[in-house]
Amino acid sequence: MPIHAAYVHVPFCVHRCGYCDFTVVAGRDDLIGPFLDALELELQTQLGEPAPVSTIFIGGGTPTYLAPHELRRLLAMLAAWLTLEPLGEFSVEANPAGLDPERMEVLREFGVNRISLGVQSFHQPTLQVLERDHTPDLVGLVCDNLRHHGFDNLALDLIYGVPGQSMANWEETVQLALELRPEHLSTYGLTFEKGTTYWGRLLRGELNRIDEELERSMYGHVMDILPRVGLDQYELSNFAVAGRECRHNQVYWRSEPYYGFGPGAAGFDGTTRRMNHRSVHTWLKRIRAGESPVTETEQLDRELAAREAVMLGLRQVRGIDLAEFRYRYHYDVRSLSAAAYDRFITSGWLQERSGLLQLTKEGRFVADTVMSEFLA
Ligand code: SF4
Repeated sequence: MPIHAAYVHVPFCVHRCGYCDFTVVAGRDDLIGPFLDALELELQTQLGEPAPVSTIFIGGGTPTYLAPHELRRLLAMLAAWLTLEPLGEFSVEANPAGLDPERMEVLREFGVNRISLGVQSFHQPTLQVLERDHTPDLVGLVCDNLRHHGFDNLALDLIYGVPGQSMANWEETVQLALELRPEHLSTYGLTFEKGTTYWGRLLRGELNRIDEELERSMYGHVMDILPRVGLDQYELSNFAVAGRECRHNQVYWRSEPYYGFGPGAAGFDGTTRRMNHRSVHTWLKRIRAGESPVTETEQLDRELAAREAVMLGLRQVRGIDLAEFRYRYHYDVRSLSAAAYDRFITSGWLQERSGLLQLTKEGRFVADTVMSEFLA
């Protein structure tokens, strides 16, 4: 299967939010120039010649933290090495703070056609708990400006399950997000990852997880409300207007291959997954020394590839096409974990419909439990 998707990681942010577990450096603007130099080398070494792709996703970090001239250099470099097919999807992650008209113009100039905006909440106290540096009002202004600059594919990210967040706050956040008429909405439950500031604060009792039932209701709320306004759920955390699903992320969920560039980025060629070093410094040092930035290589045998494909495929509301799965992996999904399969069908968390295996709505609440049984 040829590779037709590329992910590029830009690790710079104004500061590190307390819950953030991504590959990020804050307050090291001096590294932006060296990062761009190294990224160019990585593209050159990994690709050898310009590669045709259908999707490009620049994530972070905050890619739009780069100054306009740096952003221009990044996009020009990608244009030289990645040839996006006509009507290809070109996404860039952005935060409302700092996404000014000048940066928007640069993004448009280089063919970016999808902006994924880290809104998280329209409730100021919640934004403060999340340590975000924008205000709810700024989001509306930025979205208006993006529309004005011709962006017709806006994706907004929201977070629920934040300490202190109430159901009313969440409902209001969802409502205000909908008033901006995004083509795509992602809703993520806050997670506390080991090693983050939040994790330490949780252990010290300075932060408390919200009640599990409340968090469940918050997820249930978006599953109920969003489809009524034309944003259909197509993945556990993702809702979109028909035709505006994120094509890049669908590559992951369909276990298709992809390139990965930048610190912490992963690439997959269909059988082997390669993970770049997560430390920006080590990634830089290795590339400068002419060494590979890859720190972890995982060769997937047929069974592991099949198990992963179940886990990822079940994330999609459509589910897994059982005949296609059998053809591609030479396994029946059920044979990978027959007891769990039968148990989840009986409990109503999984269902088979028209040759598709999918999580039921009830099953989406316990997706991690279901999917982990297939990885074992
Ligand atoms: S803006 Fe996003 S990537 Fe940057 S530190 Fe905050 S959560 Fe992490």
